[in-house]
Amino acid sequence: MGGAADLFGEREAEDQPVSGRFVEVALKLPLKTAFTYRLEEGQEARPGSRVRVPFRGKDMPGVVVRTRDECGDVPAHKVRPVREVLDHDFVLPSALLELAQKMTHDYGCSLGEALDAMLPAVAKQRGVRKIPHLELALRSDEAEVLAVELEDRHEQQARVLRALVEWGAPMPTLQLQRDTGTSDSPWKTLQKRGAVRRVMIDEDAEPLIPDTTEGQKRHELNEGQRDAVDRITRSLDAREARTFLLHGVTGSGKTEVYLQALERCRALGRAAIVLVPEISLTPQTVGRFAARFPDVAVLHSGLTGAQRAQEWHRIQRGDAHVAIGARSALFAPLENVGLIVIDEEHENSFKQDSTPRYHARETAIARAAIENAVVVLGSATPTLESYGRAKRGVYELITLPNRAGKGTLPRILVEDLRKEDKRQNFEGVTISRTLQNLMEERLATRDQIILFLNRRGFAPTLICPSCGTAVQCEHCDVSMTWHARRGRLCCHYCQHEKRRPEACGYCQHPKLHELGAGTERVEAAVKELFPQAIVARMDADTMRQRGAHERVLSAFRKRQIDILIGTQMIAKGHDFPDVTLVGVISADSGLFLPDFRAAERTFGLLYQVAGRAGRGDKPGTVVFQTLCPENYAVRAAAAIDYDAFVQQELAFRRATDYPPYARIIRVLCEAPKEFEARQAATAVRDELQGLQDVEALGPAPAILARVRDRYRVHILAKCFTQEAFDQAMDLLASVEDRSTRSLRVLLDVDPLSMM
Ligand code: ADP
Ligand code: ZN
Repeated sequence: MGGAADLFGEREAEDQPVSGRFVEVALKLPLKTAFTYRLEEGQEARPGSRVRVPFRGKDMPGVVVRTRDECGDVPAHKVRPVREVLDHDFVLPSALLELAQKMTHDYGCSLGEALDAMLPAVAKQRGVRKIPHLELALRSDEAEVLAVELEDRHEQQARVLRALVEWGAPMPTLQLQRDTGTSDSPWKTLQKRGAVRRVMIDEDAEPLIPDTTEGQKRHELNEGQRDAVDRITRSLDAREARTFLLHGVTGSGKTEVYLQALERCRALGRAAIVLVPEISLTPQTVGRFAARFPDVAVLHSGLTGAQRAQEWHRIQRGDAHVAIGARSALFAPLENVGLIVIDEEHENSFKQDSTPRYHARETAIARAAIENAVVVLGSATPTLESYGRAKRGVYELITLPNRAGKGTLPRILVEDLRKEDKRQNFEGVTISRTLQNLMEERLATRDQIILFLNRRGFAPTLICPSCGTAVQCEHCDVSMTWHARRGRLCCHYCQHEKRRPEACGYCQHPKLHELGAGTERVEAAVKELFPQAIVARMDADTMRQRGAHERVLSAFRKRQIDILIGTQMIAKGHDFPDVTLVGVISADSGLFLPDFRAAERTFGLLYQVAGRAGRGDKPGTVVFQTLCPENYAVRAAAAIDYDAFVQQELAFRRATDYPPYARIIRVLCEAPKEFEARQAATAVRDELQGLQDVEALGPAPAILARVRDRYRVHILAKCFTQEAFDQAMDLLASVEDRSTRSLRVLLDVDPLSMM
């Protein structure tokens, strides 16, 4: 290290140890290399420290991944100094650094991108923050008039105005932009016109106090639960990195198993993580954990930024040892994690849909391998991937076949809508005679009803009865949904809106026909059919107003609503004891998408929806209305029989070489010209074709072949062995770097969506 004195100058070399004076920093860029910087006198940094460094004329945050004595290949005088070491008391745990490294291999992201996913915005901030909001500077009726004036020439400004009217309070600017799919120029123009105002509002810093009233009781375990807890604790005691698949029917008491496994984990002095889907992070769920573990921290997007920051810092300071939250809570900066629980492991929300496109399940297992921790995956309807691994002995399967507490399985009726005598039409919505009769009975006894349809809006298509032309989005290859209440046609993919055309744009036929039904139309039909009933609708459209979600759910729970109509928003997690009838308006609506997971998704959703009936003392009834009653996914869901479904589905997956019999990597190319997207995809396909045990499919248009004026072409690589997968990943590791100004290339490992 003789040269060190030259680098630092005489004085520094005298009173500073020269070792570890250089750091390699990973930046949040799609670049696979780390960059070397120099620490200045007085700066202390370790692997895992956050720093700010100069890069291409700007300062950027990054994470130190290595410290070293020399500067390597870079000429010493070219090495630039670290600008600042950020929060000195925080260093990312080494297990997380190692995990980030693993993610770069598994998902083809850069180290900086993986590390960035681990450090939520709140990690980078402290205390109360002011965040920009927008509010109307006009009365809301004036704003609506202005929206109508603007909508032909400045449609995005009209959209922004309407969103603000609907929200009914100052709205965080970022949320507004996200909800309306707009950049910042529409609201800035509105601001110049004096129609909206930008205001800074303090984030609410009220401390989070979970509701623990319902969770105190510790159940005496039944036999199945006992066995499950015993097997999990044995692995905990042995410090084994083992994964369990806890397959238990709805209500089988999986949560009690998690809780008692957690008790053991804490008794061993180790930390734990519980991941649940965002939607089930209700105060009740959190309360059940908080009642038993005072050192729980909660991490999810429903908290204000300030609350999230507080919770995160409690973990980081070592005041909380159990983290409960959605996907990213997996990266809670806990030391010595012994147990990771993933409840409802089949939920799609465990996969992130932006870079890095990681799956929390796979990444949890990777973290557990690093920390010698136990993973428990719980579900009533495990993914085929998990079930396949359990069958092969990669995971240990634990089955809880019976409900633990009260509540019986519902009775499920399948209504074949192809039969004329069953079908009745109300305002364009088919409601079978059976469902109508059952609804009448329930209304008479004042029991509650849920109607489910996974499609919002009034009608998914406006079609010309004369020439058959549907109104399509100008920017996407999809038909626009008619929203009667708003009086607008909306594209559900790019948020584009327009007025209903007076006549068919192709043949000028004067009256367009509303084809098909969404939740809004079901609401209209039900109100016509049962004018005396109190009906509410819960979907992304009715939930635009601040606080609407909680208001409707609490009114329903208090029995102020007789019939709740909704999309998948109401399908999951909620527990309504007085619901004794659930009607699925169209059980097969998702079944025919060209996606190998269509059947799995349909089965899972129907199973979940059916689970909403009969949670309390009264038995429930569920009606599936369908055009394909003989389909195996519909039949198995109607029989509440996971095994029947999984046997058939595994046979299908084996015959077609889809997961769990192969791993899939998807490369999606998007460009304004179809030719360019196709050419890029073809090149990738050609390179993959040289690999052993890899089958490259495509190029083919994605299910959504054009969105926001960009053509989308994808290829799929099916990898039949681990080696094949590794080789394909080596080849594809930097495929995203092929993106240009016009072309965007996306790499998705184990994709959940073919859209
Ligand atoms: P899951 O998570 O499997 O859907 P829960 O853990 O929510 O099921 O349990 C369902 C119901 O059964 C809850 O009301 C719970 O309090 C109750 N329960 C759980 N374990 C037992 C038990 N051993 N004895 C009696 N009731 C139980
Ligand atoms: Zn569109």
